[in-house]
Amino acid sequence: MKYNSTRGYDEELTAAEAIIKGIASDGGLFVPEEIPRVGKDFIKELSPLSYTERAKKILALFLDDYTGRELEKCVNAAYGNDKFDHEAIAPVKEAGDIFVSELWHGPTSAFKDMALQLLPQLLTTAREKSGEEKTSLILVATSGDTGKAALEGFADVPGTKIMVFYPQDGTSLMQKKQMVTQEGGNVSVMAVKGNFDDAQNGVKRIFGDRDFIYTLLKENTKLSSANSINWGRLAPQIVYYFSAYADMLAAGKIKLGDKINFCVPTGNFGNILAGYYALCMGLPVHRLICASNANNVLTEFIKTGAYNKNRKFYKTLSPSMDILISSNLERLLFHLTGNTVKVKGWMGELQSMGHYAIGSEILGKLQSIFWGSFADDNGIRATIKKVYDNQNYVIDPHTAAAFSAADDYRMETGDSRPMVVLSTASPYKFAGSVLNALGKDCAGKDEFALLEELSTLSNTPIPAGLKKLADAPTIHDKVCAKEEMIDLVADFAAAK
Ligand SMILES: *Cc1c(COP(=O)(O)O)cnc(C)c1O
Repeated sequence: MKYNSTRGYDEELTAAEAIIKGIASDGGLFVPEEIPRVGKDFIKELSPLSYTERAKKILALFLDDYTGRELEKCVNAAYGNDKFDHEAIAPVKEAGDIFVSELWHGPTSAFKDMALQLLPQLLTTAREKSGEEKTSLILVATSGDTGKAALEGFADVPGTKIMVFYPQDGTSLMQKKQMVTQEGGNVSVMAVKGNFDDAQNGVKRIFGDRDFIYTLLKENTKLSSANSINWGRLAPQIVYYFSAYADMLAAGKIKLGDKINFCVPTGNFGNILAGYYALCMGLPVHRLICASNANNVLTEFIKTGAYNKNRKFYKTLSPSMDILISSNLERLLFHLTGNTVKVKGWMGELQSMGHYAIGSEILGKLQSIFWGSFADDNGIRATIKKVYDNQNYVIDPHTAAAFSAADDYRMETGDSRPMVVLSTASPYKFAGSVLNALGKDCAGKDEFALLEELSTLSNTPIPAGLKKLADAPTIHDKVCAKEEMIDLVADFAAAK
């Protein structure tokens, strides 16, 4: 299978090449030239399998230049070795009449691990396959969770270096603590003055700077991306949609072929886009519900077809969704239109004016699959409390946005199909916000006392990766302006 740019440049890359490259030469994103289809039998056969085996089967369809053995090695390294604290990797739980796919059992307690434990494996294998000798320098802009998950995935991986930029005041305390304490001989972590979009735009600009990239190449360094613009981030995420369906099938909650809905806490549109691929492949999905927070640019887009990032930016309780430019939407627009000229035009308008509109025909297509809603911080707090009071189940603020949107969807449409909420972070990662929402007084308590309190209240163990941060020293304390990012990348590339 070949991969080309959403903006029209036909590079005809293999999956391995697209994963090494990260972003297309014309600034577009890599998309598969066709989306593989599977039948009911394929889905049925997944049912008795482990997560790792399911992953191997699904990834093989998209990464057809990897051998079966290579994929097996990759998925075993990513999801084996007790790196996840649940044997199902992505277990499906029930909270009342909602199915919850818990995607946060990996080492950093957020769903980013689902992809970022696998991406370094896919990338190293791709490097071996293509005889790549240059160092792969992974650049990451993070609103919190990606940074740590990428650091954890790439730390001390041979042939790679990783540099992470996070918005100085845009992450939770625990997210920041996770990043600034990261060990590893090949890592750099940097706070950027500004919000997530400043960090992301800075990184995008570096990827688009041909002279700079050429200079680095001469110095034996190749830039690569671990953001969800990288195909190697997206493909692994398709797996857990199938896995949730297969689990529900195995548990007799649905019959083969029954359509279900997924409700997804959304920021950069990577997670929910993986659901779109699953749907296109033939997974019986009725609607994908896009849940946002107060930064509700996507809710408006799905309702009206007008994307407008010129709006107030809110720092919310769900920082990983505090995003005004959802990069992966570009891939969806490509698949809905099949028209690279249109996509390129819209992305140009977004860049120059901050808005674009897709017109009624494409909007109709979009709305036949997607539905959007949002919850502000008050709504998120109320939802955390309601789910705890009614179901004795503690959820984090991102997941709460999805519970709220799922409620809105059912109220407005009356659709009672089975609903799977993707739970994207452990509540421990946002213990202060969660305890506050539950009416606890957190004033003056440190983050680790809060973990203990949450553990008592929820009767669940504190994730090991968070617990150990209590004694971890700060290693990375630098802050930069967004204009300085490119020079810092050059310095880090040159460093031994
Ligand atoms: C990254 C993240 C999201 C948003 O996912 P996208 O793929 O960017 O839409 C939601 N919740 C949490 C906890 C995250 O870390």
